[in-house]
Amino acid sequence: MSEPDDPIAAALAHIGDPAGQGGLAEAGRVAMTRLKDGVATIVIDATGFSAEQRALVERQVRAAMVAVPGVGDTRVAMTAEKLERTIVAVGSGKGGVGKSTVAANLSVALARLGKKVGLVDADIYGPSQPRIMGQSGRPELIDERIVPVPAHGVRMLSLGQLIEPGTAVAWRGPMTASALSSLMEGDWGDCELLIVDMPPGTGDVQMTLTQKWKPAGAVIVSTPQDLSLIDATRAIDMFRKMDVKVIGLIENMAGYQCPHCGEVSDPFGSGGAEAAARTMGIPFLGRIPLRLSIRKASDEGRPPAAGEGEEADIFRALAVKLLERLREGAMHAAHP
Ligand code: ADP
Repeated sequence: MSEPDDPIAAALAHIGDPAGQGGLAEAGRVAMTRLKDGVATIVIDATGFSAEQRALVERQVRAAMVAVPGVGDTRVAMTAEKLERTIVAVGSGKGGVGKSTVAANLSVALARLGKKVGLVDADIYGPSQPRIMGQSGRPELIDERIVPVPAHGVRMLSLGQLIEPGTAVAWRGPMTASALSSLMEGDWGDCELLIVDMPPGTGDVQMTLTQKWKPAGAVIVSTPQDLSLIDATRAIDMFRKMDVKVIGLIENMAGYQCPHCGEVSDPFGSGGAEAAARTMGIPFLGRIPLRLSIRKASDEGRPPAAGEGEEADIFRALAVKLLERLREGAMHAAHP
């Protein structure tokens, strides 16, 4: 490889692309260089870089510029092509229906299908993702952005990582809004799908979240009981009013299978959500049984979707349906 004439380009030629095989310049990541009045300005296309990779490249560029004659000061700017990131809200009419369990397992199942997935735990009333995903480490702050922590192939940020456990949460509006912003605007890197575990219900926080970050679609979780379904209908109405496509309804805790005799009973009924979905004209995505093993796995930080067997299969099937519906939506958007 011949050395470029431009001394700045020559100095940059030796820096590798942390997200690829070759050099930064070869990868076309050096978007602009300029030397004026002793100040070198270098613009790097940092699309897909993690915060660590950005920091590394910046250090390397600065170090390289020290040796270039005529350069007194160096400015490094990182730009990123705006990645098309699809936000999917997981909502419910009320708490306790398994919305967080579903959000976690859907995220893991989507990641196992090859998607780059981020999981945002925005449930201010009871942020439970650190427990469900078995990841309670504090996220790092780099360049004033929170860096999601990896768990079961997914990157995750939770309000529960920002506050002491148990102090949740009678937060006042502005505090909640700014905490949610730092989660949503965390360093999600190349995540293509962001699954947001919404607070249950249809209050101000839910409306603000929806308005500000405009999900591509919403998944609603309900148990089969009438009351839960009436609440779910409210959540569906809220998303529809805010022009968010309802991707579909998931029935959770349907039919209890006795771990001893295998008999299936329906303490809360079953099939109610499917009928309700039909009445409301929204797709029914599937049904998750009520099982002690699902609760136990969640308590132990091992989402069933990360394992093998029937439960993992149920979540994989839900994830496949979700992706199909998102693709259909994207096609409708492209050809109105
Ligand atoms: P939400 O987010 O709607 O408040 P969670 O996901 O926190 O609900 O679930 C509430 C409780 O129900 C948790 O203890 C969870 O482990 C349990 N749970 C959720 N789904 C199931 C299921 N299909 N079978 C058994 N327990 C479940």
